[in-house]
Amino acid sequence: MTVAAVIVAGGSGLRAGGAKPKQYHLIGGKPVIRWTLEAFLSHPHVDHVQPVIGEGHEELFRQATEGLALPKPVTGGANRQDSCRLGIEACVAHAPGKILIHDAARPFISAGVISAVIAELDHAEAVIPGLPVADTMKFAPDGFIEKTVDRGSMWFVQTPQGFSFERILAAHRRAAREGQGGFTDDAAVAEFDGIPVKIVAGDQHNRKLTTSIDVIAADRELSARLFAERPDIRTGQGIDFHVFEAGDHVTLCGVAIPHTQKLKGHSDADVAMHALTDAILGALGERDIGHFFPPSDPQWKGAASSIFLAKASELLQARRGIISNIDLTILAELPRIGPHIAAMKERLASLLALDPARIAIKATTTETMGAIGRKEGMAAFATATVRLPL
Ligand code: MG
Repeated sequence: MTVAAVIVAGGSGLRAGGAKPKQYHLIGGKPVIRWTLEAFLSHPHVDHVQPVIGEGHEELFRQATEGLALPKPVTGGANRQDSCRLGIEACVAHAPGKILIHDAARPFISAGVISAVIAELDHAEAVIPGLPVADTMKFAPDGFIEKTVDRGSMWFVQTPQGFSFERILAAHRRAAREGQGGFTDDAAVAEFDGIPVKIVAGDQHNRKLTTSIDVIAADRELSARLFAERPDIRTGQGIDFHVFEAGDHVTLCGVAIPHTQKLKGHSDADVAMHALTDAILGALGERDIGHFFPPSDPQWKGAASSIFLAKASELLQARRGIISNIDLTILAELPRIGPHIAAMKERLASLLALDPARIAIKATTTETMGAIGRKEGMAAFATATVRLPL
């Protein structure tokens, strides 16, 4: 029986503060939603993963999920319930037997909890993970206690919530048809349609990131773990030069910068990205960029240099390494680099799935000295520090 998973990231999530919704904040060097999606994509019993995103979040989502094998995201509805229904509807073509619905803002979901929900769906039509309540519970609707609640029958519930696909699809369609739109989880939609919902053991680590404090704490926890597991710290350097020829722009860190000339080279001649690629390769003890992409090979003619950086990144990932920081200095008399540094950083951060705060891009002239001072070309110097497991 095939299993689909809908990952719901429809909310604006602005309670966590900042300019973008919390599911796109970086924790441990990756966006929250990427951790969550990877947990499901890598699970051996999940066959199809369908993201649901907020309106206008297409570009954020694209950047956060670069390189992941995912279908086109569905745009969510007016509330969580609508977003879930649209995600479930998008899975109809795959005809799954079971479906899991999970909050993108719960990145600490374990493979064990996913497996437990899927397995229990062999015996029940609806299964959700829950945690028993440890504290004493009081019922106090107006601030004064009316009674003490029997906590033995109370649960904190989590996601992924699992269902027989046809049953939850029908329940959601009925709720929408009858104008019942206030349900805050899918179990409530199941309850509304009379489906018995079973609780299995959740995991206290599977918490939902709601506030900016939650996001900061999650980042510290994941970063500390990533760093502790990679104590082998290495630094690499990369240096590159390209001369100018007739043209109308230069490409630096993947950003086209208008200029009266362009850089001459076999590829797009992105001198900054070449230096950076060599710095990462150097930190790994690998050969240089020309070894992996010989200039004599016609297939790299005019190539975007992001291909070269992706290769270095792939070699780093194959060794389970992470980048600690990048420091890049560009030498040029012209064009002026300063106004483009933010866009260049953003591009590198996206290509390397790295926090922009770990990337420095600086530019200097040579005070008209030498070949660069005579505007014959540009140079770039890069250092990269990486961390590897032992
Ligand atoms: Mg080069």
